[in-house]
Amino acid sequence: MSIQLHQISKRFGPTVVCEGVDLHIPAGEMVALLGPSGSGKTTLLRIMAGLEEPDAGRVFMHGEDATEAPVQERRVGFVFQHYALFNHLSVRDNVAFGLRVQPRAQRPSEAQIRRRVDELLERVQLGALAGRHPNQLSGGQRQRVALARALAVQPKVLLLDEPFGALDAQVRKELRRWLRRLHEDMHVTSVFVTHDQEEAMEVADRIVVMNKGRIEQEGRPQELYDRPASPFVLQFLGDAQ
Ligand code: ADP
Repeated sequence: MSIQLHQISKRFGPTVVCEGVDLHIPAGEMVALLGPSGSGKTTLLRIMAGLEEPDAGRVFMHGEDATEAPVQERRVGFVFQHYALFNHLSVRDNVAFGLRVQPRAQRPSEAQIRRRVDELLERVQLGALAGRHPNQLSGGQRQRVALARALAVQPKVLLLDEPFGALDAQVRKELRRWLRRLHEDMHVTSVFVTHDQEEAMEVADRIVVMNKGRIEQEGRPQELYDRPASPFVLQFLGDAQ
């Protein structure tokens, strides 16, 4: 499902967090929102999710105005930096959770849930750990469970907010490659917030560089690298080398 932002603005008290943001994310793309801390990335993601309302501007999902649509109607899946898994549930039940709380009319049967969960756990290579609890897993494994859980409800859009931010460098590297492969497999439209240039370069089809609530430049990783539009972009991407 495509996402289109039209002239989005948002302030918190006197702080302007997003200003006149126009952005089009075609269906099936993986886009990174890249920028320093405080540049408005998370706020923009939350506006796409329907967790935050913009002061001005419109959000279109699949061409339809979704600005006022509540989060449950947007078919979005989330993965946050801090896992937010249920510690009292097994890995399998964590992944099944979103399916079991669906309204009865949409809810798959237990046998279907079981099948879908097992298939997802294979995809994220956690089949062998399905019976474990989150506190028996490493940080990287927990984030893979969080991803499987987000994907279980077959979202049209996947929103990831610094999903690997709390992990050490080696694990981050592995998960990046792995996320990229998963995306090539499933092609769910995905928006990925990061302040890590290398991460954006490696994972995203397209990078949106943010600075002080505005889009500084957007393009394919190589385009940005070859033709930075401003000293800010040059310096910011330069840090990755
Ligand atoms: P980023 O994700 O790029 O770090 P954020 O979108 O989280 O940026 O935040 C941008 C600015 O908005 C920051 O200055 C932050 O303090 C402020 N901000 C974010 N959310 C709130 C809020 N709920 N109330 C007040 N200020 C906020």
